Amino acid sequence: MSARIILVGPPGVGKGTQAALLESRLGAKGLSSGVIFRTEIEAETDLGQLAKSYIDRGELVPNGVTIQMMLKRLRTEEVRRRGFVLDGFPRTVRQAEALTDELKVEEIHLDGVVSLEVADDVVVGRLAGRIGCTKCGEIYHSVNKRPKREGFCDVCNSVLVVREDDKPETIRQRLTVFRDTTRPVIDYYESLGCLLKVPADGDSEGVYRMIVEGLGID
Ligand code: AMP
Repeated sequence: MSARIILVGPPGVGKGTQAALLESRLGAKGLSSGVIFRTEIEAETDLGQLAKSYIDRGELVPNGVTIQMMLKRLRTEEVRRRGFVLDGFPRTVRQAEALTDELKVEEIHLDGVVSLEVADDVVVGRLAGRIGCTKCGEIYHSVNKRPKREGFCDVCNSVLVVREDDKPETIRQRLTVFRDTTRPVIDYYESLGCLLKVPADGDSEGVYRMIVEGLGID
């Protein structure tokens, strides 16, 4: 089957983890705007340089370039065939409206929009200890999920780093952006009648089951 799912929620709620599970088990292509921006930054493209100036401050990259970047990827033959799990996009109502228009024109039906929900203090704790692999993207935590060998990835043995935007001042800014700019996206999808709210403070397997059962794509 080919699923078409949008994941929304504050930074650190576990969108990346759930997107990876949905991708590996349902075969849908994971499209994370944050990962795509970080890849562009690493490749030192013009888009990467522009994005970095916003990301390092915990602000959103402007709508125009973000929408263009994501719609381009949604139009690929692979995504048409496999379906998609959007993670981190849309993050503004303008992005959500642009996506709705695109899906309408292309006659693509969404399985649903999943809002992953946890209390603010849980999110701060998760982000503050988060360490990621520079190569394969696997995510660890200094308290909750330590790598077997300190500083190195269990999966591919590459070096683990703290993301520039996971530093405490930037975390606060990102949570403010979520509250002011991204929360209305959740209201937008609720008003369209396609929102599934999932409590995301349990273990990732339990959250995954609630998503697939709630969407009826088990
Ligand atoms: P993430 O990995 O999803 O936490 O994204 C990291 C950063 O990339 C965010 O804090 C934003 O600066 C930027 N970003 C990711 N997705 C978007 C988006 N849909 N719109 C604007 N900026 C974004």
